[in-house]
Amino acid sequence: MFDVESIVRTNILNLKPYSSARDEFKGHASVFLDANENSFGSPTSEEYNRYPDPLQLKLKEAITNIKGIPAENIFLGNGSDEAIDILFRIFCEPGIDNVIICPPTYGMYEVSANINNVAAKKVNLTPSFELDVQAILENSDVHSKLLFICSPNNPTGNSLHKEDIELLIQKFNGIVVIDEAYINYAKQSSCIGFLTEYPNLVVLQTFSKAWGLAALRLGMAFASTKIIDYMNKVKPPYNINQATQNLALSALENINWVNDAIRETISEGTRLVTSLQAMPLVEKIFPSDANFLLVKVADPVKIYGQLVDGGIIVRNRNNITLCEGCLRITVGTPQQNEILITALQQIGI
Ligand SMILES: *Cc1c(COP(=O)(O)O)cnc(C)c1O
Repeated sequence: MFDVESIVRTNILNLKPYSSARDEFKGHASVFLDANENSFGSPTSEEYNRYPDPLQLKLKEAITNIKGIPAENIFLGNGSDEAIDILFRIFCEPGIDNVIICPPTYGMYEVSANINNVAAKKVNLTPSFELDVQAILENSDVHSKLLFICSPNNPTGNSLHKEDIELLIQKFNGIVVIDEAYINYAKQSSCIGFLTEYPNLVVLQTFSKAWGLAALRLGMAFASTKIIDYMNKVKPPYNINQATQNLALSALENINWVNDAIRETISEGTRLVTSLQAMPLVEKIFPSDANFLLVKVADPVKIYGQLVDGGIIVRNRNNITLCEGCLRITVGTPQQNEILITALQQIGI
């Protein structure tokens, strides 16, 4: 039986978290003179003089209504990136522990590992961009505390086989983190359904992609209450600012906009594939379950440069493991995609 406490760092087990004014008094009152805030208000149209709810309970309630996950199983971070960093700080002893990542994948896992002085062991995806389950397990040791799985994967765009993911959750002797930043675009369903079964699972989602709120910096982690409690203990007390909490709440009332944008993105992606396929400079378009395409082209450096000259920025992934010759292209609006297509047609190859 998996025991979270057995892999939490000792200093975190013993940590006495910061207790804020808002933590210590939770009842109703009319005069708040406990937090040294500015009692006269703010010099802005909205009032921001009061510290925000450290546990964002109103916002979590609205997320519960959409996701069906209880508030006690939700952590909110200043972007998913904060959740990733906090998991390192809870579970990985600097200089001793390690994590497993599966390149080509999202760059933040390794950066966060480096910042925390934790080794990132790389077990590449297979040439068809699937998890190499056996190699992952063979490369794990008693110090392997986190396994990062990104599905749909960035930059390849594909969803990873769910049976492989579940097997790894069962067999890996640490926390399995499944990053579902692109799940709203995917045909494959979310892994949040596994949460009731597995206590060593963390699922990350974000408001940065399908929700269209990258600038607000708001990420979600779903996990067992034990893991969520440690994340709350370690996070900065007021990590989600009041403006973000307010704006995310209003976004959650506008789910129709989000669903329409998802549908439009997916149909534009299909149209973009058709246009790209007809071009001589395009060698391969990898199947995508996300809002971007990984495209292998004849001369990536030249094509990237010519697009930049035309004011069009895509992501050059030519130097990334298993992505040689590839550009990563975000699906744009019909107008943006048209500009891209026209520019590519003018590049003579
Ligand atoms: C974009 C992206 C995120 C989002 O990170 P935020 O910090 O929430 O903006 C997370 N994971 C992956 C794989 C991404 O591509």
